[in-house]
Amino acid sequence: MDILDHIVTLLEKAGAERYGMEAVSQLEHALQCAMHAERTGSSPALITACLLHDIGHLVGDGDEGLAEQGVDAGHESVAADWLERYFPEAVVAPVRLHVDAKRYLCRAEPAYWAGLSQASQTSLELQGGIYSPEEAAAFMAQPHAADAVMLRRWDDAAKTPKLKTPDLDHYRPVMVAALKTAA
Ligand code: FE
Repeated sequence: MDILDHIVTLLEKAGAERYGMEAVSQLEHALQCAMHAERTGSSPALITACLLHDIGHLVGDGDEGLAEQGVDAGHESVAADWLERYFPEAVVAPVRLHVDAKRYLCRAEPAYWAGLSQASQTSLELQGGIYSPEEAAAFMAQPHAADAVMLRRWDDAAKTPKLKTPDLDHYRPVMVAALKTAA
């Protein structure tokens, strides 16, 4: 099956699954995140990263190679390892770094932590907690870290029940433009 057909099928199935403790489905969350990126004029790569940033929740079971990578792999690592077969670093890196971006933002902006949802505050501790100033500087020195921070903000903002967004068909050509072979 074509990889984009596969991705669309995964996301459509995610329409029936809730996004953690939030009042939106995984699919609504993905579409809202991508819409925020698109509205600010982001590249196809970053819009695709936003649409697919939580695909680690959807590709785990039965996917070859993932079991050996350890059950404690975070969803961002599962997603990034899967995406890198098909997409370039400009897509993969923001996904891989989007959880660490939360640790960065909590250090860089004191008000950021207070604005996180309860679920997100709780998971922060499991993800390693707030960065030290040195860790924050090292984080931002990585390629695509600024994109990861943007993705993170849109991720946080992509939890609005019943928000109207473009559908998956709208994002298919965007994903095509971001594929490795299109580069
Ligand atoms: Fe998310």
